[in-house]
Amino acid sequence: MQRWIYLGLLLLLLAGCGSQSSAPTEVAAAQPSATKQPTTPTTAATATAAASATPAPPTATATPEPTATPAGLSDADLAALSPNEMGWVMVLEYHLIEEPNADYSRAPASFQQDLEWLYANNFYPITFRDLAAGHIDVPAGKSPVVLTFDDSSDGQFRYLSDGSVDPTSAMGMLLAFADAHPDFPAVATFFPLIEVDVPERVLFGQPELATQKLQKIVELGGEVGSHTYTHQRMDQADAEHIQWQLAFSNKELEERIGAGYKVTSLSLPLGIYPEDESLIHAGSSEGVDYAYAAAAEVAGGASPSPFSRNFDPYHIRRTQAVDSELEYWFGLFEERPDLKFVSDGDPDTLTVPSEETLPEEQRDLIGDSAPDGMTLRRYERVDQ
Ligand SMILES: [Zn+2]
Repeated sequence: MQRWIYLGLLLLLLAGCGSQSSAPTEVAAAQPSATKQPTTPTTAATATAAASATPAPPTATATPEPTATPAGLSDADLAALSPNEMGWVMVLEYHLIEEPNADYSRAPASFQQDLEWLYANNFYPITFRDLAAGHIDVPAGKSPVVLTFDDSSDGQFRYLSDGSVDPTSAMGMLLAFADAHPDFPAVATFFPLIEVDVPERVLFGQPELATQKLQKIVELGGEVGSHTYTHQRMDQADAEHIQWQLAFSNKELEERIGAGYKVTSLSLPLGIYPEDESLIHAGSSEGVDYAYAAAAEVAGGASPSPFSRNFDPYHIRRTQAVDSELEYWFGLFEERPDLKFVSDGDPDTLTVPSEETLPEEQRDLIGDSAPDGMTLRRYERVDQ
C-alpha cells in the first residue's frame, strides 16, 4: 500500500510538472490528473485520490529517486485492457500444411482461418525462445501466441520457380497476413529435420534453397530450433547418440544460418524424453557443444504463463493444430478471455491482477517478487 501511495504521488508530480524538475512550489500547484476515475475501484486510484486530498509535505516529494519513474499503464488503461501476465499462452503445433485436415496435416485454408481467428482475438506471434525466457514483448492488450512447425515439410515453406514464396505454403500465408496486418508479424518457430528418408521433409524439401529459407525465418524475427538430426526417438538411443543428434543438428542449422546464430530450443520427436533428461539441457559430442534453454512437448494444451510456478521451460505444453483441439481452445478463450495471457506492453513490468481478481485456475502461482530485472505490479481487475 505504501508503495502505491508513493507511486500515486509520483504520478501526480509527473503530471503536474511536465519535464521540469520538481521544486516544492510546483508540487503544491500540481492538479489532480484529468484521467483519474474515482469510480474505478482500483488500488492505485484510491491511492491517487488520497494523495490529492492531503498534499504531502515537501520533504516527502522533493527527493524522488530519479530511476523510479513508474512508466506503464494508467488506471483507465488497466481497466480497458485487463492485462494478465499470469494467464495462459497457446503454443500451436503444426506439421504438414496441405490438404486435408487430419492428425498431422492442416489444410492451407484452415491455417488461414487460424491466423484470422488469432488476429481477431488480439493475439500477437512471438518465438518459442522468447516465451521460454519470459521475454514477452508484445503491444499492450495483446496476447502472445507461439506458432511452431515440426518436421520441415515443403508445405511449411516453399519457393516458386520465379523466386517468390508460394502463397499456399505456411510461410507464404504468414507473409501475406503480415503485409495486410502490420501488427501481426510473420514470426514463427520452426523445428526442422536434416536427414530423413522423405525428401520433402528434409529442410523443407528444396535442398538448394534450404539455407535461404532458414535465414529468411530468422531475418523475419522467427526462430529455428532443433527436432534432432534424423527424428531420433530419445527412448531408443543411448546417451552418446542422443548427444550426437543434438550437437550435430544444432551445428548444421547454425552454420547454415550464420551470423553467430545459436539454436536454443528443442522439439522432442513424438514428445518422448530421454531417461536422463539432463541430456537435453546441455552436452557435447565429438567436440561440438550444445545447450538448450527450452524444450517443447507434443501436447498438453495451453501453457502456463512463463511467470507461473507451474511453468517448466523444458516441458512447454503445446496445442496440436487439429480441429478438435483448436475448437476446444479457441472456444475456451472466447468464452473465458480472463484466462488468456494479456500483456501490459512492457516486457520489464509483470502486471498481474490481484489474487482475488485472478481466475481461480491461476491463483497461488506467483511469488512475492517478479523475476530479476522486472517490476511486479498487481491491480484489481474489473470484470469485463
Ligand atoms: Zn516430428
